[in-house]
Amino acid sequence: MTSGVLFVISAPSGCGKTTILDEILRSTPGLIFSISHTTRAPRAGEQDGVAYHFTDEPLFRKMVGEDAFLEWAEVHGKLYGTSKGTVEHHRRRGLDVLLDIDTQGALQVRERLPAGEAVLIFIVPPSWQELERRLSGRGTELPENVTLRLKNARREMQCIDHYDFVVVNDDLPSAIATLRAIIIAERSRRRCSPDGLPIPILADLATDDCGA
Ligand code: ADP
Ligand code: 5GP
Repeated sequence: MTSGVLFVISAPSGCGKTTILDEILRSTPGLIFSISHTTRAPRAGEQDGVAYHFTDEPLFRKMVGEDAFLEWAEVHGKLYGTSKGTVEHHRRRGLDVLLDIDTQGALQVRERLPAGEAVLIFIVPPSWQELERRLSGRGTELPENVTLRLKNARREMQCIDHYDFVVVNDDLPSAIATLRAIIIAERSRRRCSPDGLPIPILADLATDDCGA
């Protein structure tokens, strides 16, 4: 039975991950976004159940106690987690699942899933100055939050060796094209088409004796 793969994407906050992932999700059939639970407050325009399931801390802690998360972590002072049941539901339907999670969560996924079921991809900015410029320029963070996120970025970058791929987000279209190429290459490794669908002729051959 086909079981989708997990594409786990991490990046320092402000690097451009959301911008890249919005385009990848829009243009990649068979790839679905995993909506995390978080205790952080919604930003202006964020609807519950779209980017996140906004959850109060007692409910989040209850879910931790029930082992409902594939991974969870405290990030920038708030709790974030990926629902185990939802991810498994998508994968059983043969969909590949895209997780936008921090480095602590990515390392938990790497430890918990068998080799080959999760592909870890790290997106990096072209420079620290450019990261600060993007983070401040987005206009969503208070100055103290910008400072905290930059400090966390330096810590997160130290985990880069645990990732399978690194994508530099300097020129946006190039970064999107590189991530798309990684997804297509990983799907081909699993004998799928670029759209993530199994290649029927190969399923037929699997029962044949190659004579070796
Ligand atoms: P993240 O999700 O990593 O926190 P965003 O996607 O919100 O980051 O991007 C942060 C800011 O940087 C946004 O204003 C976005 O338009 C801008 N941005 C993203 N990628 C690039 C790029 N390659 N060049 C210049 N600006 C970018
Ligand atoms: P933001 O609050 O800016 O949306 O996200 C802050 C950070 O939390 C980002 O690095 C994002 O990848 C991470 N994050 C979002 N959802 C999850 C999750 O379910 N688990 C973990 N570990 N990190 C998450």
